[in-house]
Parts: sequence; structure tokens; C-alpha cells
Amino acid sequence: MRILIVEDEVKMAGLLRRGLLEEGHAVDVATTGGEALVRAGSTEYDAILLDVMLPGGDGFQVCRQLRRQGVWSPVLMLTARDGVEDRVAGLDTGADDYLTKPFSFAELLARLRALARRGAVERPALLEVGDLRLNPATRQVWRGDVEIQLSVKEFALLETFMRRPGQVLSRFDLLEHAWDYAYENRSNVIDVYVR
Ligand code: CA
Repeated sequence: MRILIVEDEVKMAGLLRRGLLEEGHAVDVATTGGEALVRAGSTEYDAILLDVMLPGGDGFQVCRQLRRQGVWSPVLMLTARDGVEDRVAGLDTGADDYLTKPFSFAELLARLRALARRGAVERPALLEVGDLRLNPATRQVWRGDVEIQLSVKEFALLETFMRRPGQVLSRFDLLEHAWDYAYENRSNVIDVYVR
């Protein structure tokens, strides 16, 4: 794997780099968010190890910016803080997984392997189709700058459509993604909601 380490602490970055090199990976190191954006923009990494604590902008901003630039390499965030809020923020800005420092190197390797299996497919934190934007984390929808109020089911349907732009979805597809098994399948509920 070609891996990018984003970590300002030279000692920590060096340890990670040596360990990954010993496992046979190719490893680059960026010590600032800006450097990370440049490197990830020019090389397609199989995984990015991103530290949350960085000088001049934290890892969350870097992750958000990477996704905005269309970089979809799997991101594993490293956090020294054990706060639930940090982990939630990391995942909601587009990270794929997180590891809290201190961590075991064996676990880091296993998580990197799992992430690399997923590959660099698009998985935006914010869905955009035309002038519609949908944020699954805050459950908000906008057309242009105007926020739209939707019921829970309307939101679920719209999210289902926006995750598959340009595809024809059957009633079964919609049922599968927006309704559970408690749904009474003889009713015309989908037709009603779509209308
Ligand atoms: Ca750091």
C-alpha cells in the first residue's frame, strides 16, 4: 500500500513510518495540513493516516478539505483525545475510521488493511445533486440557499435518491432503504410519499 502519514510530531511520524516500511508499505509523511492537501492531490494513496492535532488547522478541517478536493482515499484519524465528540466530528467530516492514541501497531495495521479493501470510492459526507444539498449528519436539506423542512420519511426517501443519482429505483429499492420490515407492503405508501 502507498500510505500518507499526516502528523506534526516528528518522533511519532518517524515511528509510524518505520513500522509501516517494515511491513512492506510505501510511506510519505506530511507535517502540516497544507502539505497533506498538496501530496494527496497529486498521489492516489491507498490510505491516509491523519492526526487530529495539527498546527494551523486541525485534522477535521484537513479531512473536509480533502473530500472537497475530490480525494476519496480512505482516511483513518488518529486522536489523542478520547472524547466521543471528536470521534463523531471526525467521522462526519468524511473520515472512515479512527484510532485513539495510544494504540497498538497491530490494530493500526488491521484497520489500514480493512480500509484499503474499501478503496477510494466516493462517499461524500454532504450529498449534492444539482442545487440540492443534503447533510445526513444534521438531517438538513437545502435547495440553493433555502432550507427545506421534510418529514422523517420524506428525508429518508430523498437521501435514498441522492445517494444514487441518475439511477432508476424500483419500489422495492425504495422500500429496502427507507422502510423496515414492519411496513405493510400492500399499501401505496411509496407512491404517496414520492408524489
Ligand atoms: Ca499531532
